[in-house]
Amino acid sequence: MSDLRLWRLDELCPSCAARAGLRCQTFRYSDKPSRILHNARGWRHRPCPTCKAQPGEICRTPTGRQASRPHTARLHRGRHELFSDDQVWEELERWKAPTAFVRFSGGGGSRGSIGAVTLEDSEKRMLARWGVGEGELPEALAVPIWARYALFRGRPRITGLVMWDLQERQVLVGGERGDRKFEEVLVQKPLARAHLAPLTVPDDAQ
Ligand SMILES: [Zn+2]
Ligand SMILES: [Zn+2]
Repeated sequence: MSDLRLWRLDELCPSCAARAGLRCQTFRYSDKPSRILHNARGWRHRPCPTCKAQPGEICRTPTGRQASRPHTARLHRGRHELFSDDQVWEELERWKAPTAFVRFSGGGGSRGSIGAVTLEDSEKRMLARWGVGEGELPEALAVPIWARYALFRGRPRITGLVMWDLQERQVLVGGERGDRKFEEVLVQKPLARAHLAPLTVPDDAQ
């Protein structure tokens, strides 16, 4: 699988109508950014169960013309796509990895890029280490970065580390934004989440 942002961010979102390159929104045409990227954004990467279009192809009408929008069946997550937080937690459990880290940087005129993705055991020993595009789990672990910063357009230079905390079921990000340190929650603990729907994170007002 290629760089995830190419197929999640380089097209508009059929669910919330967020434009290409921009974060998803909490609902259609709202301007409240969402902490997630809608599954619909991956449609072009999947085959279409309705018209049998292959990954990369546009959907077709029964008469063979290009459809104006992808078929609904294509907007849902594929069976083998590791994408929702729940599945990522399950996968970390399988690895017996209570923590996972994703290094990233972006902004200040450049698009975001992911550095190393690592899993650690409870003794902080490294269990696995991946680079960009080296598997579905590392890509899924990087999703909160794309959901939060999209392509880093108009942002100051940000370098940081995302931490997945299996025990707390929480995802944190910390690092430096411009010349200031920052830390924030990207995915809240399930208990907190229940009280805070729809969940949004603040934009980077400097
Ligand atoms: Zn969306
Ligand atoms: Zn189709």
